[in-house]
Amino acid sequence: MNAQSPLKERALAALSAAMPTDLLLTDAEALERYSRDWSGDHYGRPLAVARPRSTEELSYFMACCHELGMHVVPQGGLTGLVGAAVASFPEGEVVVSLERMNKVRSVNPIDFAMVVEAGCILEDAKRHAEAADCILPITFGAQGSCRIGGNVSTNAGGFNVLRYGMTRDLVLGLEVVLADGRIWNGLRTLRKDNRGYDLKQLFIGAEGTLGIVAAAALKVFPKPEQVETALVGLESVEAAMQLYARARRQCSDLLTAFELILRGGIEIAINAREDLNDPLSQSYPVYVLIEASAAGRVDLKALLEGFFADASDLVLDGVIASSKAQGERLWLLREMMVEAQGRGGRYLRTDVSVSISSIAAFVSETLAALADKYPEAIAVTYGHVGDGNIHLNIVPPEDMPAEEYDSLFHATEEVIFDVVDRHGGSISAEHGIGKIKQAAFLKRADPLTLELARRIKDAFDPEHLLSEGRILASAQGKAGG
Ligand SMILES: Cc1cc2nc3c(=O)[nH]c(=O)nc-3n(C[C@H](O)[C@H](O)[C@H](O)COP(=O)(O)OP(=O)(O)OC[C@H]3O[C@@H](n4cnc5c(N)ncnc54)[C@H](O)[C@@H]3O)c2cc1C
Repeated sequence: MNAQSPLKERALAALSAAMPTDLLLTDAEALERYSRDWSGDHYGRPLAVARPRSTEELSYFMACCHELGMHVVPQGGLTGLVGAAVASFPEGEVVVSLERMNKVRSVNPIDFAMVVEAGCILEDAKRHAEAADCILPITFGAQGSCRIGGNVSTNAGGFNVLRYGMTRDLVLGLEVVLADGRIWNGLRTLRKDNRGYDLKQLFIGAEGTLGIVAAAALKVFPKPEQVETALVGLESVEAAMQLYARARRQCSDLLTAFELILRGGIEIAINAREDLNDPLSQSYPVYVLIEASAAGRVDLKALLEGFFADASDLVLDGVIASSKAQGERLWLLREMMVEAQGRGGRYLRTDVSVSISSIAAFVSETLAALADKYPEAIAVTYGHVGDGNIHLNIVPPEDMPAEEYDSLFHATEEVIFDVVDRHGGSISAEHGIGKIKQAAFLKRADPLTLELARRIKDAFDPEHLLSEGRILASAQGKAGG
């Protein structure tokens, strides 16, 4: 529980009095659900939780908080995992959960656009798009929990970035409630609009530090009529990257996923579930899960079979799913690997990126450096090749005492980030900076970037009431209750 100053207590009482019934939760038991993230690693008890049902209610709530000097943090599905969406400001924060602003306002199959409220769960938004014979292509393991506002605020990627781009590439417009409660209306479905600064871009990936996304207009695409999934075994990451380069050219740009998984990841998945077997006749050092999809008169299966026939110099073994169910079984390996890593307890997650042409060198250099310095650490390596985004996670050995985890995680993360730096990569390609990547981010950011970022923060949130201390360090003196 946060130690509340008498000033904060009075502000909270005033906030409660100003809110309509049912908008603000203050009961300790009710607050618990909003205090811990998806991984369980990050905990922060909010002073209260606001649950607006509309942009107007959200605006009213923010105006009251602004008036009272209350610190606020927006919360989606809590799957961001960098400690950004749970309360953490030392003097206490009010969480605003978007969970009741969850409507799909429209799907327009001629504009190929949909308008969705920020609290809509990604999977629900995808289902609505499908009902209009379209797809919303943002796809990843947490889609049953994460929400559209969270996806926008972390610029989420996923399996289909290769073909459709990241969330930033899909956002046509936004409706945003600012720190002082005013509503910025940029909710348009225009494809082209060159009227000066494109302000919506600033809110994408801003992790809630500049405004609260209330709704988003997103691009959708024709729903593919054919989807083919294959899993292949290869000798090395280098071979996988050669296969990727060929697949981009030879599969008529119909690739929708190209997921790299090193053998350790496959073992984690098959050991986690009795009904999952080794997918190929023997084990291979490296696997690639490939998906291609198409609408219209394309014989996708023949295209993929022809591609693999020509790639026999690289592919050692493989399977093309003969049914939708078999395709789903192949994807299950990928999903189980992610889920099962955490079953033994805590582990280090990284979500780094390097340019696609550097992936093979990055993986081999990092694994060699880890094996040299920390041979006891178990490295689990997989990634979305199409966006150069690699997860190199560290699972502690079974016999390691839990109190030694933090120093192992810290030391191995340094090793991984050093290699990222050598390749001019990014230490955070997925989850953002939040609180836990802040020190590593600030250490690497150039002074001009930081100066401009601080000025943007000051322009949007001069009192520093919104998601204070995320991405940028807390502005001492300004951030107080
Ligand atoms: C199993 C798993 C797989 C994942 N795979 C991928 C992947 O493949 N690619 C990828 O890019 N990411 C991936 N992620 C991370 C992904 O970015 C986030 O899961 C997701 O986009 C966050 O959405 P959320 O609703 O859970 O947001 P939260 O975790 O609740 O919040 C994330 C951040 O956004 C802010 N925020 C939330 N809602 C709003 C709003 N309405 N307005 C302003 N700010 C807001 C929060 O304050 C916080 O800073 C994965 C996560 C998990 C757990």
